[in-house]
Amino acid sequence: MFMITIDNTNCDGCGACVDPCPVALLELVDGKAEITGEATECMGCETCVTICPNDCYTIQEL
Ligand code: SF4
Ligand code: SF4
Repeated sequence: MFMITIDNTNCDGCGACVDPCPVALLELVDGKAEITGEATECMGCETCVTICPNDCYTIQEL
């Protein structure tokens, strides 16, 4: 099981991470990406980690 966390301090609101998430956990809220779904539903695909140019995402295996 994986859990995704975000530090959106450096998020520039590019939105590139939002649509590619296969379980739709991510949304832009007031111009910053947030995990609006249940973080424990993360599949650990690392797509968001790879896409984000600002290293906002961290994946933990639980
Ligand atoms: S690692 Fe994959 S499933 Fe998890 S939040 Fe990122 S894009 Fe979504
Ligand atoms: S890819 Fe990174 S910088 Fe772009 S919206 Fe997502 S978290 Fe923010």
